[in-house]
Amino acid sequence: MSDCIFCMLANGEIPTATVYEDSDFRVILDANPASKGHSLILPKEHFANIREMPDELLGKAAVLAKKMSVRLTEAMNCDGLNVVQNNGEAAGQTVFHFHIHLIPRYAGSAPIVANWHQGVLTEEDKAEILSKMG
Ligand code: AMP
Ligand code: ZN
Repeated sequence: MSDCIFCMLANGEIPTATVYEDSDFRVILDANPASKGHSLILPKEHFANIREMPDELLGKAAVLAKKMSVRLTEAMNCDGLNVVQNNGEAAGQTVFHFHIHLIPRYAGSAPIVANWHQGVLTEEDKAEILSKMG
């Protein structure tokens, strides 16, 4: 996709802070980080979201998320790390090129990942969802 910013970043058409690169992915520093070290795993090929990702590439992305989590934890000496992946505007996706957020977390820092109100799974919802997901 010629007008996709992440296609350009992933393929080196726009210079960016790269922390890892292989033939399938580039991992870059987020320009507006939620925490120090916030990184994004970008496939070099364009897929809008997780539903469009080929299984094999998605598997590689998951393995890379693990590898980068280890590296980031060692390099940044963080205390935890969130792996976040948004699909669709309603889910907070703003760039419609699949990406995985790696967000280092530091003990005592303010909450930075959306906390949802914890509801209660009702018997009615449970039955409805299980029948739909059947
Ligand atoms: P999402 O809301 O999941 O689509 O995340 C998009 C992320 O891309 C946000 O965290 C942005 O800060 C980040 N972002 C957008 N444009 C750039 C850019 N040019 N370079 C690096 N990160 C970017
Ligand atoms: Zn793209």
